[in-house]
Amino acid sequence: MKQTRAAVIGSGFGGLALAIRLQSAGIPTTIFEARDKPGGRAYVYRDEGFVFDAGPTVITDPAALEELWALSGRRMQDHVTLLPVSPFYRLCWEDGFTFDYDNDQTALDRQIAAKSPPDVEGYGRFLAYSRDVYEEGYRKLGTVPFLNFADMVRAAPQLVRLRADRSVHDAVARFITDEQLRMAFSFHSLLVGGNPFETSAIYALIHALEREGGVWFAKGGTGALVDGMVRLFTELGGEIRLNTRVARIETEGTRARAVVTEDGEHHAADMVASNADVMHSYRDLLGHTRRGQRAARRLDRRRWSMSLFVIYFGLRRKHDHLKHHTVLFGPRYRELVSDIFHGSALPDDFSLYLHAPSVTDDSMAPPGCSAYYVLSPVPHLGQADIDWDTEGPKYRDRILAYLEERYIPGLRSDLVTSRIFTPADFRDELAAHHGSAFSVEPILTQSAWFRPHNRDSKIPNFYIVGAGTHPGAGIPGVVGSAKATAALMLADAGQHDG
Ligand SMILES: Cc1cc2nc3c(=O)[nH]c(=O)nc-3n(C[C@H](O)[C@H](O)[C@H](O)COP(=O)(O)OP(=O)(O)OC[C@H]3O[C@@H](n4cnc5c(N)ncnc54)[C@H](O)[C@@H]3O)c2cc1C
Repeated sequence: MKQTRAAVIGSGFGGLALAIRLQSAGIPTTIFEARDKPGGRAYVYRDEGFVFDAGPTVITDPAALEELWALSGRRMQDHVTLLPVSPFYRLCWEDGFTFDYDNDQTALDRQIAAKSPPDVEGYGRFLAYSRDVYEEGYRKLGTVPFLNFADMVRAAPQLVRLRADRSVHDAVARFITDEQLRMAFSFHSLLVGGNPFETSAIYALIHALEREGGVWFAKGGTGALVDGMVRLFTELGGEIRLNTRVARIETEGTRARAVVTEDGEHHAADMVASNADVMHSYRDLLGHTRRGQRAARRLDRRRWSMSLFVIYFGLRRKHDHLKHHTVLFGPRYRELVSDIFHGSALPDDFSLYLHAPSVTDDSMAPPGCSAYYVLSPVPHLGQADIDWDTEGPKYRDRILAYLEERYIPGLRSDLVTSRIFTPADFRDELAAHHGSAFSVEPILTQSAWFRPHNRDSKIPNFYIVGAGTHPGAGIPGVVGSAKATAALMLADAGQHDG
């Protein structure tokens, strides 16, 4: 019998996890990656001895990653070391209130009691709710491909029971009265591109996910985790081609036949999966087909998630007062989030996330120095057509001045190196539609069956994996999407998932 061959376009976490699953099941798999390094949004910059993870740094649900090694009887810890992060996050407000969000129940209760005594009991009920949603929404449905409306109907009673129609913020507000504590337990959806005031309460599961599996940092940075996955994949016999942009997916009738690279090479494949941006996949890679054009038109009518402005910087000094992950809330919250998701201009104020990996791992910076990135959620380009070549450097200066004034004294005189990544870079470097950082926005009407499917309905050997399909963005999301997509591909190839 002829051996089935698979092509995976893109080496983000979703593409890598899918390729590992296919290769572990004995399907020869080739990954085609446009950039010079694997990892997608988890790219790595190295400047002047500093190591900057470009994207994800909060590693949750390590069990989902360990599973990828276990498929072939290997152990993740032989390739990657995960270090626990404590507190999970420090949250800071401009009025001086800080909250260390952690797994230590006593410490959490003490902090909640100091701020708002009745909310201790309310938090307990919220945690129980979050665990319930986690069980139903993540463990049971997170890796199920929603291909038919019937799948959605089957899930509906649970979604109704858990009031998935409500927003995350509203769900939290049912249990917790203090506005700052409400923010502390509802901002998480922003980490996967969801507006806490509009994203389904299902995303309240992130709280239980973190409490259950912890928050981790890969020793050497997220890039070390990517390297470990690439090593696993190649040890299994898989092939990864870097600097190889796919220009087109060749089809014959209703079937994908090959991927054609930018320099005209044809690579025949029996199954093609795209980990690239879902709009790019349909509009550009399948744009010569009616199916591609139609799907692209539909995708254009979707709501796309926010973008991000990121500054990577290295300092010639350490700052021991900082925590590894810090969220810095600005003067406005609900209004700012609304401006980011619906506004047509760059807001004057910002809320920031500061990443300080040297706190956990000295190897991220030269001796005596410290590495950082700071990110600011901003509108995507389809909404606010900002000229980032002009605005980027000005916005960087404003953010660094703010950080220096409030959190990192002497920042600008200690700068050794810095670089920025703007919405235009998301568009140009990652082919991200509108420069969105998290793909299709995770609202209820764009989730599960309503999200682009893991297998195309018209081209049955074309699959999607990554943030644009079910369940969505974030490492646990895209690694879950790889499990859902792999199960379909292996079943279609007449095999079973390991
Ligand atoms: C700054 C930032 C911080 C984040 N922080 C966290 C976090 O702390 N924790 C967390 O869980 N999540 C985080 N996320 C979200 C998470 O990083 C993403 O949802 C996830 O990594 C996306 O993975 P993916 O599989 O969809 O692929 P992507 O990472 O989007 O990779 C897609 C790949 O496809 C390649 N590609 C595109 N077009 C082509 C083509 N034509 N030919 C060949 N290759 C192509 C691209 O070069 C890219 O490498 C963060 C995201 C960002 C941007």
